[in-house]
Amino acid sequence: MASSERSYFAGLDIGGTTIKSVLVDEKAEKVTDIVEVRSLVDKGYLSTFDQLEEALGLLAKDAGITVQQIRGIGLDVPAANSDGVIWGKANLASDWVGKNIRQLFSERAGVPVYMTNDGNAAALGEYFVRRKHFGSLMYVAPGTGLAGGLVMPAGEIYNGSNGLALEVGHISVPFREEDGELPFCSCGWHGCLEAWVSLVALRRRIKLELEKDVWKDHPLNAVDAPIEEKAFMLRDFAESNDELAIQIFKQQGYIFGYGLADLIRVFDPGLVVIGGGLAETSFRETYLQWVLEGFEERAWPIYHRSPIEQDTFTTRFEWALGGDSAGALGMAFAAKEKFG
Ligand SMILES: [Zn+2]
Repeated sequence: MASSERSYFAGLDIGGTTIKSVLVDEKAEKVTDIVEVRSLVDKGYLSTFDQLEEALGLLAKDAGITVQQIRGIGLDVPAANSDGVIWGKANLASDWVGKNIRQLFSERAGVPVYMTNDGNAAALGEYFVRRKHFGSLMYVAPGTGLAGGLVMPAGEIYNGSNGLALEVGHISVPFREEDGELPFCSCGWHGCLEAWVSLVALRRRIKLELEKDVWKDHPLNAVDAPIEEKAFMLRDFAESNDELAIQIFKQQGYIFGYGLADLIRVFDPGLVVIGGGLAETSFRETYLQWVLEGFEERAWPIYHRSPIEQDTFTTRFEWALGGDSAGALGMAFAAKEKFG
């Protein structure tokens, strides 16, 4: 077959600052590197459509094909949506809300579009990069928030009836601050899992700890940097075994595992993939041990090891493989599955 007749499928992952995109062929093989363009989500959806078209043009150019050979698109946004209808604006401009973005972009691009949220997209990416994995997979990623997604066997995402499933960051966990208060969550409530394990939680915890007498000589107290930067620096400290950094990440990991135990009790996914920035650190295996401590505290033993074959795990934990390309890859694979 001449290359001009071949079909390709694009994955477009819309983030707050960049749009990441990638192209796969009919065999779900990646044919381009990740192409990034600026995200203009705060300028409205039409400005974003222009950026998406630019990304499609760049992908086609990289692959040496025409845009018309792209026969289907997978698209994800950092906001709750039901088959493309945006429920709430998150960090998008307000003109997105209530619009059927999937349909509008499909009409503009002239090809079918599949659409979901960013957590689901990354979950699909992690499922499809594990080519030999055929069971279900739960994806959880502590970042600014705590994203999640559940892929069922055969690669179908569990969206829920309204596209609102797997908001894993907002299950409640029974942990309180030292003053007895439940920590405030970005969703407006208190005591959510996300309020303990996200980057936002890390910033709060660092601030609280650095004000204590015991850490008054900690090097982070001598650094003149905003708390956001200190939160990133804490990873380097953990990598060099700093006592404060270890204490903070240990608490985060433990509570994360404790919360995961409830999610695993509900979904029994078999495989849990952990994404987010921690997946890129050199202390991630230590962190995972803390996650497992919290998990084993809360979960029945049967949710970790088989009671019949003691060496067999009923739930396995793995680090993400897709990095920050997982969303774009997941959407390209999903487009190929649905429209190929
Ligand atoms: Zn919350």
